[in-house]
Amino acid sequence: MIEQYVSKSISCSCGKTHISRVEKIEIAENVIEHEMIAFLKTKNYKKITVVCDKNTYRVAADRVCKALSENSISFKLHKFHEDNVLPNEYFIGNLVMAMPLDSDLILAVGSGTINDICRYVSAVSGKPFCTVGTAPSMDGYIANGSALIHNNMKLNYVTHAPTAVFLDPLILSRAPGDMIASGVGDLLGKISCLADWRMSAIVNGEWHCSFVSGLVDTAIQKVTACIDKIASEDSNAIADLIEALLISGVCMDIADNSRPASGCEHHMSHFLEMRYLLEGRKPVFHGTKVGINTVIALKAYEYAAKLTPDFDKIKKAPRKPYEKCEKEIRTAFLNASDEILELEKKSGKNNPENLKTRLEATEVSWHQIKSLAEQVEKSVHVYNKCTCTSQ
Ligand SMILES: [Zn+2]
Ligand SMILES: [Zn+2]
Repeated sequence: MIEQYVSKSISCSCGKTHISRVEKIEIAENVIEHEMIAFLKTKNYKKITVVCDKNTYRVAADRVCKALSENSISFKLHKFHEDNVLPNEYFIGNLVMAMPLDSDLILAVGSGTINDICRYVSAVSGKPFCTVGTAPSMDGYIANGSALIHNNMKLNYVTHAPTAVFLDPLILSRAPGDMIASGVGDLLGKISCLADWRMSAIVNGEWHCSFVSGLVDTAIQKVTACIDKIASEDSNAIADLIEALLISGVCMDIADNSRPASGCEHHMSHFLEMRYLLEGRKPVFHGTKVGINTVIALKAYEYAAKLTPDFDKIKKAPRKPYEKCEKEIRTAFLNASDEILELEKKSGKNNPENLKTRLEATEVSWHQIKSLAEQVEKSVHVYNKCTCTSQ
């Protein structure tokens, strides 16, 4: 299914032309030795920078280096030696300083963090990048954005999708169970993220595409249909999981927007990541945090489905003073609060005028919002039933 959206231009009824910039996605056994090498030769890359960490070197990058040597393709290996590699200033700067100026391709060997670092360095240096994935742990292989930590803040940076992605199902199915669970969590997060996108279209008049959201919905169903087999690390089910994650990534790329794959569950996940970082705690996989926060987001939709707001009362209610909001932000975001307050000031989304506009739009469209919340509540019951009946 994924192949039909590679290197395509689709004129859509939403008004956009959806363009997929990824030239190749290959999911096959021994993909490194065959399809990857064939692609690199076709593109005639002459000086490749291979990027990995200690684990992904052992899992795949040593095979990548061996295959490049055997095919006389020149490369430089850049291996991060630290135990916890983070997508922050240190590791990005580290790669930039190590990369030869005449390198003509960045080859990322890894999953989330390695890809976020390489994608960003690729975008700022203007050098293309390709990926050899090592775990079905997140949907970012084809994303056009990097989730990076800057000044202790986790933010999405607009970058670009890779030229090609190579995945070996055998390597993926040997990934640790918590990384596979993370992939499931990231994918299930799309349930709340699609609802958020629709909600923003209703309340803020934001652009929305039914074609793209329909594709993401297909990816959700693909995973919920075989969730128990994924848990038992069945390689066919793992292949379904990676394809669903790739579809989600393609959707971000063709929408040129992270909306199809990232909603409030991702914002909450970024918050948790920042807190863990600031408190010096061991990082938790991205999709694990997304999965946990999806439950919170879906509870909010469940609550909204039963709600009958008194808009007159809400309009008359006193606003929380700015000082109180600032104090709460400083308590929650610690060292990252200045960045948050600055962002908030720039976006102005909570200034009185914008709040009033959103409240009015919410009142006018309440029946649509309620119906959306009811649909989300219903679909969650269906997904729950899927797993319950097969146990
Ligand atoms: Zn569209
Ligand atoms: Zn994600």
